[in-house]
Amino acid sequence: MTATTPSPLTVLGTGAMGTALARAWLAAGHPVTVWNRTPSRAEPLAADGAVIAATAADAVAASRLVVACLLDDASVGAALDGADGSDGADLTGRDLVNLTTGTPGDARSRAAWAAARGARYLDGGIMAVPPMIGRPDSGAYVFYSGSAELFAEHRGVLAAVAGTEYVGTEPGLAALHDVALLSAMNGMFAGLLHAFALLRGTDVAPRDLAPRLVSWLGAMAPAAHTTAERLETGDYTKDVVSSLAMQAAGVPTFLRTAEEQGVSPELLLPYLDLMRRRAADGHGEEDTAGMVELLVRRATDPLPSLPVS
Ligand code: NDP
Repeated sequence: MTATTPSPLTVLGTGAMGTALARAWLAAGHPVTVWNRTPSRAEPLAADGAVIAATAADAVAASRLVVACLLDDASVGAALDGADGSDGADLTGRDLVNLTTGTPGDARSRAAWAAARGARYLDGGIMAVPPMIGRPDSGAYVFYSGSAELFAEHRGVLAAVAGTEYVGTEPGLAALHDVALLSAMNGMFAGLLHAFALLRGTDVAPRDLAPRLVSWLGAMAPAAHTTAERLETGDYTKDVVSSLAMQAAGVPTFLRTAEEQGVSPELLLPYLDLMRRRAADGHGEEDTAGMVELLVRRATDPLPSLPVS
């Protein structure tokens, strides 16, 4: 979040995140044009100094730097291709920064789509919630991937709202980092919920368990470094301190404790099952890093059934 000279930009989408971004850019002194499909949701930004554009095409015409922060990838196409009945936006010579959450494949397709319309393209994955935007002390940052030239040129403006982490020219890399970190977070939240459920109905208040969980997870988090080292060397058995055989032997304790406490083990079972399978496959002397081998599918492997699509 560096001081930079005022530089006009357009923000497409004034939902919770787009509004926070637009406000932060305005507060940093940048002239901002905004557009939202539902105009009433953009109008409050006029009081902060934003220019409200009537159509997405007008908003794109207003600035060379165009930031999209819409619900999903389909919304980006709908907004810019004129699904609202308009002719669609002229992206020729524009620098499109797409902060809409999507898959790496969405980002690659959208980059090709932008190139075909004469625009440079940068994809972004926001590692923050709206109240963190524009607050240098919040730890908010955005992964970026795609045009290195676009990133270099607009880095100062982008950094006015959140930290910047450029991860490469391949457009899908930002989305891939975003989803990888959020996936790890989901695993952590699953563990937290199971832990709170286990102690529910005891004399231990959730507020007393919370600091113990924070301290334990903090102590365990550096395992990411040793896992990375093992994945890079391919050696899953060197200096192992908690073998899979030992951990697999503990699985019944997890399951029986859940049963004794009247807690469903559904959040833990997939992980424990994977551990048990890897140990049963003759890898009991390894630590958990080798379980990645079971997760990475070959193109011919059948997909596990997914309860959500
Ligand atoms: P909101 O639901 O608050 O806003 C969604 C925005 O998308 C609105 O501007 C909405 O317009 C627009 N939109 C939806 N469908 C269409 C469409 N078909 N055509 C045009 N515009 C459309 O979401 P957020 O602002 O919170 O999120 C925006 C993006 O930021 C998402 O991709 C989200 O994953 C990402 N993000 C959000 C975070 C958060 O904590 N909020 C955290 C990190 C990333 P309308 O008002 O007309 O419905």
